[in-house]
Amino acid sequence: MAQARIFATLSTRALKEQIYGHRIVEYQNYLWYQGHAVCLGLARVPGRPRDPATGSFLDIISSLAGFEPGSGHTWVVTERHEGSSWRPKQAVEKKAPPGPASPMGGQDLGDGAWGYYRPERQTDFLLMVHPWGSNALVLAQIVNAGKTGDQKGQRIERGSQCALCFRSLTAHAADDEPCLFHPGAKDLIDSDSSASEASDDEMVDSYPDSSAGSSEIDDDAHDEVLVYRCCGRRGDAAGCTAETRHMPIQSGRVREWRRSWIRCT
Ligand SMILES: [Zn+2]
Ligand SMILES: [Zn+2]
Repeated sequence: MAQARIFATLSTRALKEQIYGHRIVEYQNYLWYQGHAVCLGLARVPGRPRDPATGSFLDIISSLAGFEPGSGHTWVVTERHEGSSWRPKQAVEKKAPPGPASPMGGQDLGDGAWGYYRPERQTDFLLMVHPWGSNALVLAQIVNAGKTGDQKGQRIERGSQCALCFRSLTAHAADDEPCLFHPGAKDLIDSDSSASEASDDEMVDSYPDSSAGSSEIDDDAHDEVLVYRCCGRRGDAAGCTAETRHMPIQSGRVREWRRSWIRCT
């Protein structure tokens, strides 16, 4: 079973103390106005990051403490997805940030500006940029953790399901474990069509009773599969996004943010 291991985090305040961190803070301000979080799938490949002063988003990331790809290596983007933040806004974060409302001095961070894009590479790392919350920037590694994670997750205790990955949480897991999950809703699509062709009517409730639920549906509908909107992966695939902790479900805003998540590259 794949799990997330948190590799590095930076708060907005810590970002401002780094040489090029202010450019990430500018981008974070832009996300604040959108209410959006962004997740990049990353792979670490041989090469060298370019000068962060003139380079791409990932070249800036590579200059931050704890986010360096390592000697002789560079980050490449394997996928990008974006949607509404799942983090609740705290009182202090409801005021507009002091910085600009557009990222990187007004530059559009569209195609190409993120860094080299190699869709065929395996995604080993995930980079999340958040509009608010204690960690503005989170770098997670995807690791294969064997069976132990499953067993922990199946112990049911009252009021302790994760709003992100839907696992039942023990108090211990809720405190200590990072969460690997899909932020997007699931669509039921024909196996030979793409996720983007599915309509809202076909959207499937994203609350599985257990991890076995989705595969049962797959078996019954021979030419239809469940696919996550966030990344286009099948319903039983390991998560494409990570958070530093599981987030116990609280009443209210559980599902709304999921509808906006889409795959951008
Ligand atoms: Zn996904
Ligand atoms: Zn979780």
